Amino acid sequence: SRGSWSSSDSFASFDSAGEPGGPYRVVLLGAAGVGKTAFASIFAGAEDSMDSEDCDLSTDDVCEKEIEVDGECATVTLLDMWDSETDDEWVQERCMQTGDAYLLLYSITDRASFLRASELRIILRQFCPAQHTPIILVGNKCDLVRRREVSMNEGRACAAVFDCKFIETSAAMQHNVWEAFHGIVRQLRLRRDSKES
Ligand code: GDP
Repeated sequence: SRGSWSSSDSFASFDSAGEPGGPYRVVLLGAAGVGKTAFASIFAGAEDSMDSEDCDLSTDDVCEKEIEVDGECATVTLLDMWDSETDDEWVQERCMQTGDAYLLLYSITDRASFLRASELRIILRQFCPAQHTPIILVGNKCDLVRRREVSMNEGRACAAVFDCKFIETSAAMQHNVWEAFHGIVRQLRLRRDSKES
């Protein structure tokens, strides 16, 4: 709800992406049912984490933890606050303005969610006109091979057009999900390094 998030420190509007090691705010976007909650659960889980304290996703849409990427620690705040059903533009705008980086999910078994990802990419561009906001287009549910509606080539081509990275994942099989989180941290670091120089 609007009340719970305006009280959260995570939404303070300073540019933390310039800080070495973060915290980096990474926002999950995508149509309903594509696997955002599954991604957030994997992130919140103990695996690959140096934190002993796990986030409680039943009460939070926000999970912050320190992860190691390429031998260097990064603090990532993952935000799963996108409500695909809501018509509340305030919430959607807030979401589009909050992230330092975005994981833009669709399901490879759902062409409509792929089209929605394109729309969201265009909306994101309006909210983040600054070049080089890291975005990864994520084709989730790649374990469901027989139900595939979007080919890997289409995903790749779409990412090329939208000037973002691309990865196929399976949250169910825990395949490539951490690669996606690590990939976004690498891009955030590249952006940080190019700002410094
Ligand atoms: P959200 O609406 O984007 O948060 O989507 P959820 O994370 O709630 O996922 C919707 C449904 O898809 C749930 O039943 C999940 O268990 C299932 N799901 C999520 N990711 C995968 C995946 O990679 N493979 C398969 N087979 N099912 C998945």
